[in-house]
Amino acid sequence: MRIFLGPGGNCLTAKESSTESSFERLVELGLNTQEIEFVRNIYLTEKSAEKVGELAKKYKIKLSVHAPYFINLLSSDKKKVEASVKRILTSIDRAERMGADFVVVHAAYYGDYSEEEAFEKMKEITNKILEEMEKMKIEKTKLAYETMAKRSQFAGLEELLRLKEELDSKLFSICVDFAHLYVRNSGKITYSEILESLKNFDFIHSHFSNVKYNINTKKFLDEHIPINSHPPFEDLAKEILKRKVSIAIISESPKLELDSVKMKKVFESLGYKF
Ligand SMILES: [Zn+2]
Repeated sequence: MRIFLGPGGNCLTAKESSTESSFERLVELGLNTQEIEFVRNIYLTEKSAEKVGELAKKYKIKLSVHAPYFINLLSSDKKKVEASVKRILTSIDRAERMGADFVVVHAAYYGDYSEEEAFEKMKEITNKILEEMEKMKIEKTKLAYETMAKRSQFAGLEELLRLKEELDSKLFSICVDFAHLYVRNSGKITYSEILESLKNFDFIHSHFSNVKYNINTKKFLDEHIPINSHPPFEDLAKEILKRKVSIAIISESPKLELDSVKMKKVFESLGYKF
């Protein structure tokens, strides 16, 4: 069992706004992973991705990548689907070059499709992406669809697990965003059930933050806030240790690495040694 903690994006408290400075800060804080955020654009060339990979090795930082937000594999506009696939494949190319394990993707919106239609379409297009990845000779990086907060978004945990099972590819996995699952299920989360459903995974890639609650509508919002309330973190940490799960937990709190440190302290208080 190994636990990896770190921020989604460069450390906010690094000396400079560079990736190397961020890795230095992670080492200082005793953290060991970072998600490279291509959410607004894929800002690394092939060469600079390789350089980031070398730095990550030097500082012993495990890497993952978050693909651009501008992706919708179920768009009714063919051009948008093609552009989405291209963004995913470019992200995967950079991720493989830097030695990252996962490319996390917000895959799609259901739009006018029924759940079953959407599932079949997603299976078809994901198979095509996986074929391309094989042609690109991708060995390390996995495509990982993220569990999404809104019911209009593809998809929840069950659908993604079913997709993983049916695709049956070593190049496909999922990213479990606990905050999103909490919002999707209207403020309910049972960590034991979630981890039970992932018991065949050798390694879990995940995101964690807390989320806003709107007192007027009595609804949880897909808005990330610092870790201080809900969903609870300590219960998750306990369940991870109980099951001896190997996991990366990327902090998507606005406090990024400082909340990773908070998570680290919780694990340590429960007896885990980093
Ligand atoms: Zn995400």
